[in-house]
Amino acid sequence: MSGEKTIFKKIIDREIPADIIYEDELCLAFKDVNPQAPVHVLVIPKKEIVSISHLEPEDMELAGHLFLTVGKLAEMLGLDEGYRTIVNTGKAGGQTVDHLHLHLLGGRSLQWPPG
Ligand code: AMP
Repeated sequence: MSGEKTIFKKIIDREIPADIIYEDELCLAFKDVNPQAPVHVLVIPKKEIVSISHLEPEDMELAGHLFLTVGKLAEMLGLDEGYRTIVNTGKAGGQTVDHLHLHLLGGRSLQWPPG
């Protein structure tokens, strides 16, 4: 991968601060700086993957790990009533940071469909 580091890579490398709530060998979770719900956490792989469209077969275990981590965090954060997990992909999908991330939103009743 070439070019400048994404903001999320800088968070992984501890070059910029973030409110990190969970970390393991494969991923990191931190609070979204512009929360859209009382709970708004981003779960990201430490490996630099641009988006879902850039996942390779070798990333299968990592992709599963990210989903399992969302479930673990939801439990940890007490989101017993439910929550939403969103992965924006590409420009039209609303992706603004080119490092794969899962949004975990909860703590209020969420409407459907999103905009
Ligand atoms: P997306 O639009 O799906 O690419 O989501 C990117 C998310 O990253 C947005 O919800 C932003 O509020 C969030 N974000 C951007 N910069 C930071 C940061 N430095 N720390 C935490 N969240 C951030």
